Amino acid sequence: MKKPREDHLICNGCGRTLRQENGICREDFVRIVKKWGYFSNKDMQKHTVILCEECYDVWTRHLMVPPTVEEDTEPLIAENA
Ligand SMILES: [Zn+2]
Repeated sequence: MKKPREDHLICNGCGRTLRQENGICREDFVRIVKKWGYFSNKDMQKHTVILCEECYDVWTRHLMVPPTVEEDTEPLIAENA
């Protein structure tokens, strides 16, 4: 399986390439990384999903229980900078 290049982030939801300037992503996104374990059907697999904000909003609208949302005043350090 080919690993996606970090400087070329693509949303798994809509297939859109996230906007970048000088190697820094200029829009926020969600990255889900899951290492599956023994009690799953995907043991020893690592899955990564990237969702743009629009796709995240569509996804979370379909959840039975909405995400927990809290105020967070800590400055964000870009994870892909
Ligand atoms: Zn998207």
